[in-house]
Amino acid sequence: MKVATAVIDTQALAHNFAVVKRFAPKAQVLAVLKANGYGHNQVEIAKALSQADAFAVARLNEALALRSAGITQPIVMLEGCFNADDLPVMAAQGVQAVFHSPAQLQMLQSVLMPKPITAWIKVDSGMHRLGLLPAEVADYHAALIATGKVADKVGLVSHFACADEKGHPLNQQQIDQFLPLASHWQGPVSMAASAAILSLPEAHFDWVRPGLMLYGGCPMAGAKASDYDLKPVMRLVSSLIAIKRQKTGEPVGYGATWRAEQDTLIGVVAIGYGDGYPRHARPGTPLFVGGRRVPLVGRVSMDMVTVDLGPDATDAIGDAVELWGPNVAVEEVAECASTIAYELLCNIAQRVRYEFT
Ligand SMILES: *Cc1c(COP(=O)(O)O)cnc(C)c1O
Repeated sequence: MKVATAVIDTQALAHNFAVVKRFAPKAQVLAVLKANGYGHNQVEIAKALSQADAFAVARLNEALALRSAGITQPIVMLEGCFNADDLPVMAAQGVQAVFHSPAQLQMLQSVLMPKPITAWIKVDSGMHRLGLLPAEVADYHAALIATGKVADKVGLVSHFACADEKGHPLNQQQIDQFLPLASHWQGPVSMAASAAILSLPEAHFDWVRPGLMLYGGCPMAGAKASDYDLKPVMRLVSSLIAIKRQKTGEPVGYGATWRAEQDTLIGVVAIGYGDGYPRHARPGTPLFVGGRRVPLVGRVSMDMVTVDLGPDATDAIGDAVELWGPNVAVEEVAECASTIAYELLCNIAQRVRYEFT
């Protein structure tokens, strides 16, 4: 039987890439692979996305692992360097750096570079997480160029705080902050991640940065992936390893928090928070078994979860169970665990097996 396995559908990935191109036909695609390709295995995803113009990661070790695996496209580190020593390695490996702070400029000034690095300046257009204020960009740009260590055509990049909420007033305010700079900028410009790709075409500019939508997750609040023709790339599956008769009133699992309201059959599935299934998934979270949805009951353990198969169930040990995928959207599970699809996907644990189809 198949235990705790993430089945990765590379055709769905190619389909979702085509959806990105449909929404942003003129933009180049910086496919976001950080956090192990949102838990999908970054190297395999990079190989399957050979049409992507470049890849984005958050950490130097992510970038270096892609290079070791033979990935040749440009790679952008979205938060740039963390230490001055990162910069020569990045330049040598063709890894581009976002510059968001005076501290990063000082790192570049202090270090010997084997060759110039391709740079992007991060603009804080209103999210107030990373970046320079629009009024600070010209001086910062001049100082970057003055180091003699950056390739010409520095890029300009910004990020939305609320693009997942259609009509949120901050979306237009951020565009209004960014546009005066972006419209006269000499180098490449990028503002849109998945949600803005789907909902803010005026923010597409030269490069779009899809992450979640490539993996078939829905980046828009209150919507479904299928509303945007996105298909789930990961199917997280495991198997029933035990089926038990349960009497009315008897509890199941740690803390005895759930009790059967009728005589029923309880299924034990070999997956738990040690695999990345969320411990906070509440009773009633759907799992897909034998062509139907059944509710999670009791607490999620490290290696197992329990489901109520119902009194008349005909399921057998070894039957496949889908935790999320085409039949249970990862967003539904996320909702039942008070989190978001992003977190569930990138929390897939080391011991989970991968299959690529
Ligand atoms: C993670 C990230 C993205 C991708 O975001 P999605 O919502 O997954 O599309 C794009 N840009 C930046 C700066 C990011 O950190």
